[in-house]
Amino acid sequence: MNITDRIDSLKGIGPKTAVLFEKLKVHTIDDLLRLYPRTYLSYDEPVDIEQAEIGTRVTIKATIQSYVDVKKIRSLMIVTCMVKDGTGAVKLTWFNSPFLKQVFHIGQTYYFVGTISIRNHQRVMEHPEYYTDAQYAEKLSSLQPVYPLTEGLSNKVITKAIHAALPLVSQLEDKVPEKVQEEFGLMPLEYAIQGSHFPENFDEVLACRERLVFDEFFWFILHMRMLRERTVKAQNHFVIKNWKNADAFIDELPFELTDGQKNAVSEIQKDMTGSTVMNRLIQGDVGSGKTAVAEIALLATVKNGYQAAFMAPTEVLAAQHYEGVKKDLKPYGVRVELLVGSTKLSEKRRIYDALAKGEIDVLIGTHALIQEKVVYHNLALVITDEQHRFGVRQRALLSEKGNEPHVLVMSATPIPRTLAIIMYGDLDISVMKDMPANRLPIKNCVVGPKYRPTAYKFMQEQIHAGHQIYIICPMVEASENVEAENVVEYQESLLDVFPKEVHISYLHGKMSPEEKNRIMHEFAEKKIDILVSTTVIEVGINNPNATVMMIENAEKFGLAQLHQLRGRVGRGDAQSYCIMLCGTERKDALERLNILNTSNDGFCIANEDLKLRGPGDFFGVRQSGDMLFQMGDIYNNADVLKIANEAVDYLERTGYPLEELVAISDFNHVQL
Ligand code: ADP
Ligand code: MG
Repeated sequence: MNITDRIDSLKGIGPKTAVLFEKLKVHTIDDLLRLYPRTYLSYDEPVDIEQAEIGTRVTIKATIQSYVDVKKIRSLMIVTCMVKDGTGAVKLTWFNSPFLKQVFHIGQTYYFVGTISIRNHQRVMEHPEYYTDAQYAEKLSSLQPVYPLTEGLSNKVITKAIHAALPLVSQLEDKVPEKVQEEFGLMPLEYAIQGSHFPENFDEVLACRERLVFDEFFWFILHMRMLRERTVKAQNHFVIKNWKNADAFIDELPFELTDGQKNAVSEIQKDMTGSTVMNRLIQGDVGSGKTAVAEIALLATVKNGYQAAFMAPTEVLAAQHYEGVKKDLKPYGVRVELLVGSTKLSEKRRIYDALAKGEIDVLIGTHALIQEKVVYHNLALVITDEQHRFGVRQRALLSEKGNEPHVLVMSATPIPRTLAIIMYGDLDISVMKDMPANRLPIKNCVVGPKYRPTAYKFMQEQIHAGHQIYIICPMVEASENVEAENVVEYQESLLDVFPKEVHISYLHGKMSPEEKNRIMHEFAEKKIDILVSTTVIEVGINNPNATVMMIENAEKFGLAQLHQLRGRVGRGDAQSYCIMLCGTERKDALERLNILNTSNDGFCIANEDLKLRGPGDFFGVRQSGDMLFQMGDIYNNADVLKIANEAVDYLERTGYPLEELVAISDFNHVQL
């Protein structure tokens, strides 16, 4: 068997299972071996019930005290049973598992593994795993990999498949040059992959993952260097001389630009009139006003007779930019169009045609903007918003679209300068430090679920005052469908809480693009008072009239993500509020959330968060959200990022043929 074979050639994987694996982007055995665990579960010595920490996964050894009780509530079967050890008692509950009545008998002792919580002053453990003495002895001290799941594909099935694939790991070719492996003491790739699936202990996990993270960073940096070689020195074919209209636009704005915005605009102007092409990153915290800067650059480009493209990571955000740019630039006769994946085919054809003829000035959209069929007439500027979702490769593709257009990248990701230079090595950086003057700092609070009724009452007052509200619903990683359900159910439960005249709607990733756009429209037009949503609204959405952001289960999100979410409010001149509902009383969770509670500054948050983390937090929440990497996180793995950068420096310095290396690298496993 070959490592490049499709996975259904493995024993035990049929075509049906293979289809499920495709949802995880696993097609070949090679892909499967690189589907790394999300985390690991450990099986430790049992703890006393009395001592067991609430809200953390624990093992207890306890004796069945009562008959198993099976209740039916609507379509749900609830199974409960009391257990006890020498120190205390816990009520165990399972859903839809009536067969357990035959499994458990009074007086038997089992090991139960799960999370204890308190309900009605009673300890409860939901859906615990259960093991006999002999079974648990086998589990004890082992680490069990937990894989990213998709519906219909259990962790057991994935684990088994990986077991079957593992003998082929020796066929893997390690493409990192040997001299780098030696110089930087890298663990052999084969061992790293094996060890990250089935490690003996956490130390091994850390060591193995470090190698894998190194690879991600190494290939990324290498490609970026090549891109820089190609673009930085490129001649400026589109000299944007005339800034009259742009200046008029700035004068007409209903606000005065901040110093950061003025500075960014003048740097852009300098770049675009210079002798080499612009490659610039605008780094500005959420709400700092990056869109206005983008509009100024777009307008100047168009008024010098060229086309511009404006790319956003989601259709919702692209649609919002389209509406905004169209409205703002209309007085200047700019022809703006929207092109996204869901645009109708006939409409797409019309746009392609008009674009090639030069009858469109600004094209706004998602990845659709860089697809092969799209031919520009004279593309001189490409702006990507919230670029962390766009990799080097897309950027390269984009610059190939035209005759080396100017590139402007806008990001809110707060990266310390040393890391930014590595991450965006091919870009010049403008930082916008200040916020528009009319802003009141957002008022924050971190509270428990008990506070919910008070929060609803407060929302009611805000709605009464004409404002709007976001509620972000718990995120469920295991299944996207469940996530959607949560949002729908939550929205329904609110209908009982708020009076009829309060309009409540919801938004989640599974909705069609048309539906999402319709909802966002209605929200922008104030037809919706409360929008219950998943994190689809995380990036870039702008509704200055929204003043409350409530986040359920805030502890489940990364701080950077929470900061982005919070950035959806406080975008106008009214006082805004962020309510973080914390579903746990764990100290570390509260401590983390407290960082957000006390600061509204993205840079400061990222730094503080880093300080709180030790190496053991490797599997904690990813900080950079949807950065570029599958496993690496530029915050958590900042040291590895620096080493990878040194490795590329080393190759460059010693005259290694980097082009050849780039040519053999796999793009598949590094999302460039
Ligand atoms: P972000 O940097 O997060 O993309 P936006 O560009 O969406 O922020 O701007 C957020 C809001 O601030 C918008 O409603 C915008 O009109 C407004 N805004 C931008 N610049 C200024 C400014 N200098 N003064 C006041 N309001 C501004
Ligand atoms: Mg924005």
